[in-house]
Amino acid sequence: MTLFDRVFGGNDYNYERTVAAIDQAIATYGEAEPVSFPDTAYSLPCYYGVTGVKINTLGEMKAAMDNIKSMMTRNNRLQDAFDSGIASALCAEFLEALKYLHGATPYTEPEMGHLTDAFVRNLGVPLVTGDIPGVAVIIGGAEKPEDTVALVKSYQNQGILVTITGEGIKHVADAGMKTGENVRVCPLGYEMQSVIHVVSVAVRAALIFGNITPGDFPALAKYTMDRVRAFVNAYKPLSDEIVSYGAGAICLGFPVVSNETENMFRVPKSLIQQLDTEKWNATSLEARDIKIKITNIDIPVAYATAFEGEIIRRGDMQVEVDGSRVDCFELVQTKEAAEVEDHKITVIGPEIDDIPVGSKISLSYTVDVAGKAMQPDFESVMERKFHAYLNCIEGVMHTGQRDMIRIRISKADFEAGFKFKHLGEVLYAKIKSEFEAVVDKCQVTIVVDAEQNKALRAAANEVFAKRDDRLRSMTDESVPVYYTCIMCQAFSPSHVCIVTPERLGLCGAVSWLDAKATNELDPTGPCQIVPKERCIDENLGRYEDVDEAIEKYSHGALEHVTLYSLFQDPMTSCGCFECICGVEPCSMGVVITSREHAGMTPLGMSFSDMASMTGGGVQTPGFMGHGKQFIFSKKFIAAEGGPGRIVWMPKELKEQVRERLDATALEMYGVENFTDMIADETVCTEDPEELLGFLSEVGHPVLGMEPFDM
Ligand code: SF4
Ligand code: ZN
Repeated sequence: MTLFDRVFGGNDYNYERTVAAIDQAIATYGEAEPVSFPDTAYSLPCYYGVTGVKINTLGEMKAAMDNIKSMMTRNNRLQDAFDSGIASALCAEFLEALKYLHGATPYTEPEMGHLTDAFVRNLGVPLVTGDIPGVAVIIGGAEKPEDTVALVKSYQNQGILVTITGEGIKHVADAGMKTGENVRVCPLGYEMQSVIHVVSVAVRAALIFGNITPGDFPALAKYTMDRVRAFVNAYKPLSDEIVSYGAGAICLGFPVVSNETENMFRVPKSLIQQLDTEKWNATSLEARDIKIKITNIDIPVAYATAFEGEIIRRGDMQVEVDGSRVDCFELVQTKEAAEVEDHKITVIGPEIDDIPVGSKISLSYTVDVAGKAMQPDFESVMERKFHAYLNCIEGVMHTGQRDMIRIRISKADFEAGFKFKHLGEVLYAKIKSEFEAVVDKCQVTIVVDAEQNKALRAAANEVFAKRDDRLRSMTDESVPVYYTCIMCQAFSPSHVCIVTPERLGLCGAVSWLDAKATNELDPTGPCQIVPKERCIDENLGRYEDVDEAIEKYSHGALEHVTLYSLFQDPMTSCGCFECICGVEPCSMGVVITSREHAGMTPLGMSFSDMASMTGGGVQTPGFMGHGKQFIFSKKFIAAEGGPGRIVWMPKELKEQVRERLDATALEMYGVENFTDMIADETVCTEDPEELLGFLSEVGHPVLGMEPFDM
């Protein structure tokens, strides 16, 4: 038997059982029964991406099997064999999709099975920033369960997103490891075919971020090869079924590392035999050319971006810093060089050992920085990063900011010897490594004393208030320049964000100050200065300078972009936007929905549906991705009348923006409590008539606005 025979054997096996499964489903539900994975706008994403055809019913699925059969070529040529593996992958997708027939919920364990469009979009920013340097696809499990666990942990500690199919799931569960998107370890399913769920993520990344035309398979495969840093680690023994999937993976550019020796052969950089599974991590990273950025931090527990979303439950916590009940805060201050002793970490008050388990305590940390290129404007930029810095500590959870922070330190960390001073070590190491261009010296003072923190907090609040005044006074008119951000070009090669004080990047993570700091730290990096001297149309936010920057940084893909219009050359989207707005034609208003909201909007579309209308750096008048904070900006679709056009938002989003949006609407339209005039899912979900009724009832300002000039 050769490798070819194994691939072809796997293909035959998959073809036959898929046809049988479809026939059986048709016998039960009939050919007209709809098929789709839940929470995706791409139906069966792999089949759609590879062929350009959306499968909607069982009958269409059955017919598609002829196409799949034709892809299962039997030429004894390497490339053909790999290509034919794609057909097996499509069978796997069909088999998994059948599990979701008729509203079934086949996977009861959370995070198993199909991964939603929102999951794919959540990956956008961490993938471009390198926070997620790669994706490991682990198939099966080691002979000794602890070896699987060690491999998974090795990737997790590097921030790599891990998916597991088969036996390995049991190994990590038995070892008590937390799993889920938030800790970047995703079990897909026990059956080998469930591996398709991670392939589906890669395919949708190409459609969402890369603007790849569905059905353009060479472009799709080139995109996944060049831009999705995934690789496969497959434990022996490998069935022919797995070998056929492996061939498909290689076809998409994902190398396969295995310790299988039976009827395998090696293909450099693609099919790699590595009998020593302890070397799989290093072998895989080398094969996929993944570089891990290491910051050495002197703490007794693990530190990795994979832990950023980890949750520490009440019962697992040793102590809690609770800014909602006691005085707590975090602060960065610029000091003179002589006032700062580099790497000095001071803890004033008791250490963690002296505090009873389960206590809620008052704690503050002040980071003093000094540097010739340091500017006070960077203080808030650094401060906002503390959340991520501290969250990356395994066993530590940080939420909130400024004087509303909450930090939980787990019992496990306490037992491992974690101390308050280690919070300081982390802040020191991260500030020094990420802001090395502006920070020469850095010291951290941690105060664990309610009395002292009371006075210190009052002083910190004065600093925050001053900063807020400065931020509020910063408008698009008051600053001399704007900035580009092209970080997302790693995935959306022609996308450019223009970041202004009143319009942050659509991911919500890059404000004008962030962009300014990024430019300062890395003058040839993603954030370049855009002058604003040649204004063509103030209302639209059209500038010759902006157009020039757009043309230059989109490499000629785009020539015109306005800052404030939804219809005339709107800003493009990459795919990782926090929110998306779209025109609601009955009311002549706009509907906004956010990634967190899975439900429908009055456009008859969910977030995923609306999001699929735009992305990949293309302009789609009438639909636009944007950050949450843009909603309450006076510049939000200012050319079309501003935020007074907003007629519908999910309830949760309304609460997040209420205060600032009400203030903006009062100033712009003289309307009180504007947020209450915006409908949400409790008012209507799909019916525009109900929406209109509600808007007239509350006297929504949109009713007095001119129709859109579309
Ligand atoms: Fe991507 Fe725009 Fe955010 Fe930059 S500002 S990271 S380009 S979405
Ligand atoms: Zn993006």
